[in-house]
Amino acid sequence: MINVPEIFGSLVFDDVKMKQRLPKDTYKALKKTIKEGKSLDINVANVVAHSMKEWAIENGATHFTHWFQPMTGVTAEKHDSFIQPIGEGKVIMSFSGKELIKGEPDASSFPSGGIRATFEARGYTAWDPTSYAFIKDGSLCIPTAFCSYTGEILDKKTPLLRSMEVINKQALRILRLFGDNESKRVNTTVGAEQEYFLIDKEVFYKRKDLIYCGRTLFGARPPKGQELEDHYFGSLKPRVSEFMKELDEELWKHGILSKTKHNEVAPAQHEMAPIFDTSNIATDHNQLTMELMKRIAERHGLVCLLHEKPFAGVNGSGKHNNWAISTDTGKNLLEPTKKPRENTQFLVFLAAVIRAVDEHQDLLRIAAASAGNDHRLGGNEAPPFIMSMYLGDELTDVLHAIINDEDYEEKTSIVMDTNVKAIPNFTKDTTDRNRTSPFAFTGNKFEFRMLGSSENIGCTNTILNTIVADSLKDFADELEKADDIKTAAEELVKRTVSEHKRIIFNGDNYSEEWVEEAKRRGLMNLRTLPDCMPLYYSEKNVALFSRHGVYSEKELRSRSEILLDNYSKILNIEALTALDMAKKDIIPAVAAYIRELATTVNLVKSVDAELITTQETELMSKLTNLLSCFMKKIDRLDRTVMGAKEVEGITETAVYYKDNVLNAMQELRAVADEMESNMSSKLWPYPSYGTMLFSV
Ligand code: ADP
Ligand code: MG
Repeated sequence: MINVPEIFGSLVFDDVKMKQRLPKDTYKALKKTIKEGKSLDINVANVVAHSMKEWAIENGATHFTHWFQPMTGVTAEKHDSFIQPIGEGKVIMSFSGKELIKGEPDASSFPSGGIRATFEARGYTAWDPTSYAFIKDGSLCIPTAFCSYTGEILDKKTPLLRSMEVINKQALRILRLFGDNESKRVNTTVGAEQEYFLIDKEVFYKRKDLIYCGRTLFGARPPKGQELEDHYFGSLKPRVSEFMKELDEELWKHGILSKTKHNEVAPAQHEMAPIFDTSNIATDHNQLTMELMKRIAERHGLVCLLHEKPFAGVNGSGKHNNWAISTDTGKNLLEPTKKPRENTQFLVFLAAVIRAVDEHQDLLRIAAASAGNDHRLGGNEAPPFIMSMYLGDELTDVLHAIINDEDYEEKTSIVMDTNVKAIPNFTKDTTDRNRTSPFAFTGNKFEFRMLGSSENIGCTNTILNTIVADSLKDFADELEKADDIKTAAEELVKRTVSEHKRIIFNGDNYSEEWVEEAKRRGLMNLRTLPDCMPLYYSEKNVALFSRHGVYSEKELRSRSEILLDNYSKILNIEALTALDMAKKDIIPAVAAYIRELATTVNLVKSVDAELITTQETELMSKLTNLLSCFMKKIDRLDRTVMGAKEVEGITETAVYYKDNVLNAMQELRAVADEMESNMSSKLWPYPSYGTMLFSV
């Protein structure tokens, strides 16, 4: 049996350990850095480094690494051992303050989007003391930010930390206006629900598409999919349950507050949700969670797929980013309290979010854009491409009353009676849930539901923090001039909500009518990554991010370029994989089957020339026709991929891949799937959808 409180955080150099192991002065100085963002003295760093190293060695570590989040979307690490020679063939274990606070990885091999030519290779990683160091696989991992020699940021952590400062500053201004002089710090908090698939490892390694692309490029529909709705919250299969147990244990050891686990809608799909933390820590933890999921799955003979759409025809995987704003005194600023109509401070924060989402629909769409997620959004399994927000009946009614100067009658909670004596009555929430909304208010937080399962949430939360901070800044500028804060704030809320109410939609986001309605409301409908990504550095967005010092124009352009370029590369890899599978495996398999059928027909005829073999002959001719059609589609995809080389410009290339290559791949797949459905499963070169989805 495991003792959870005992193992929790055992691999983390957390506050308790710092307090135990550091001299008092050092601990105090470090806390100041963590709490108030003060920079760290090298002498303090030396003491911290020494104590961290001692602790790490006691826990089996031999190496250390700066652990950072470059624009690849995954984390990066370069391990150095603690050894230092002392002569006579001997070594000691050493780790200095300098090594703790600064690293110098070669930056030229990470995506920088034209910021830095390869001859300017220098890059720096810098310790982020607000996220604890931890041990992973025998290495002391130090969460760090990553920037270039010239100071441009090359990672996803730095802008997030900047955005947290920005929202802290603006939210505190509002709080002071409402008489809160106690709160010293405002943090955004995030809980990231993570979806994933688990499939059998042996099955995985038989599919090149899964190995190279993380998603299937071929595969006929299995007889059973998710139509029985029997997987969601279903009981866990033993292997899955074993995996989840070990995952929980590892997450807890790493100080990650793993809370909820369950089966998701699609067969072989599951979810894990932690208890929320500050957006910085939640981001680091989510990166670590994804890594641990993959690693632990391997130990159980499984593979964890984090791709947004590994299988056609069943749901893909997303990530829900639950987001709220809290003070260091423990108040959640998005808590409506019992009487939201009278809670003007809450209404100001709510109005700030409403304005932010409406004004920056493009940025939130960008936050959810990836080649994988493009397959998922808008497919009746995830929110559509259109941004809107759900507030629920109660808040919608409150806002309606405010903009129409009407009285508002407080909703009282209703007691639920199940009419079964043994079941105790309980009170029901004042509003229902809406599972189709991309951005839903869920009681005291917003749930942003568009994200793809593999995405780094750093970028999303950088955007969320900045756009809401921007509303708060304008609000504070206005309210600080007012004589009577309550009247001025009510007026401001009324005006803001009137101006931005088009973004509020409580209906079914999956319906056709909503697409039409959204168009009438003038909401954006950005369907794919190439459609939205160039907007990253629009005039509005450059002004927004530079106003708050979160991104410079150069940084925005580079990010946009990296993501567009990455999109084209992914589609290129997918197309080449599809061609490889088609030419090397599928054609030979179908040809072999046709040969087998022909042999049968001839054999039968040689025995008795009068015998009729209509079925074999028909199947043979059907497959022969399909095969010749398949060859044409291969040829078409081949030429389309070649054509990409002629296209100039990063955006243009991405658009070309989206408009041409994706289609050609889809046409190729359609023929392959048709052949698979008519083939002997013995000869088909890959495990079927049925095997992949139901083999664990
Ligand atoms: P559901 O699946 O119904 O959306 P879950 O309970 O699975 O709900 O997930 C809710 C997530 O929201 C959890 O990660 C939880 O920690 C997080 N959460 C709750 N309160 C806050 C908050 N104030 N700030 C950020 N996240 C929060
Ligand atoms: Mg959720």
